[in-house]
Amino acid sequence: MYILVNEGIIPKSSFSIDIEDRGYQFGDGIYEMVKVFEGVLFEWEAHLERLFRSARELRIAISMNKEELTKQIQQLIAIENLRDGYIYLQVTRGVAARVHHFPEGATSVLVAYVKEGGEVRKAELTGIHVITTEDIRWQRVDIKSLNLLGNVLAKQKAVEVGAQEAVFVRDGFVTECSSSNIFGIKDGVCYTHPANHFILNGITRQVVIRLLEKVSLELEETPMTLEALYEMDEVFITNTGQEIGPVIDIDGRKIGTGEVGEYSRKLSSEFQRLIDSVVPSKQ
Ligand code: PMP
Repeated sequence: MYILVNEGIIPKSSFSIDIEDRGYQFGDGIYEMVKVFEGVLFEWEAHLERLFRSARELRIAISMNKEELTKQIQQLIAIENLRDGYIYLQVTRGVAARVHHFPEGATSVLVAYVKEGGEVRKAELTGIHVITTEDIRWQRVDIKSLNLLGNVLAKQKAVEVGAQEAVFVRDGFVTECSSSNIFGIKDGVCYTHPANHFILNGITRQVVIRLLEKVSLELEETPMTLEALYEMDEVFITNTGQEIGPVIDIDGRKIGTGEVGEYSRKLSSEFQRLIDSVVPSKQ
């Protein structure tokens, strides 16, 4: 297995993590996960843009420009002969003696690897159970940083009660979920939290927003109260791994009919159509 480390692709076995890497000690870094279909990166430009935005916000200098990074990632996909799966990419502030402030002279460490299909789930159209939990995270979750403890604890809480996802509620308003964005549909209007510093602006979220028109839904980027969320006709979550995950109950309360909704199905089909439009076998 090969990985990308800064400017070079090397065997994974010849790479080791320095104990003083700031990603390891502080979670001082950023990441992206990007799907690959038939060897083609899905929504790569958007992921690349978000990665560089996260880097700018944290003042981490990425050792390559966008073109170079794209070339390296494509080369890694080719070397690994990846067909369907994903790439994981992270950049930390680098290796330095442990101090909290930005250390002088440290250069960022970029690592990327690919994973074959297995862990990539297709949109789960059987419907998922979710719970709600207080959003205890910091106020810059728009940055896709390695600091994910609030998310980890929330997901664990969900898993412990047999749910698949935890919805964050901040001051009575629904923000997003532990590893996904959330949408609610009521009377032909699709509600989701605006892309500010209280949510990660998911790439799948952005794709779904573009698809709303095709299924005749109006978009309303307004935070939902928890009470409003319970009363939605349909609720679904989005992320790179799952694409669209229809929610059938929240905190044990049925959403709509308690079954996967029509709009969720239609959006999922549109999503698949979009994927088909970029993969070689459907051209
Ligand atoms: N919010 C959070 C907190 C996430 O971790 C993710 C997944 N990375 C998302 C939203 C969805 O983002 P994307 O659609 O880009 O995967």
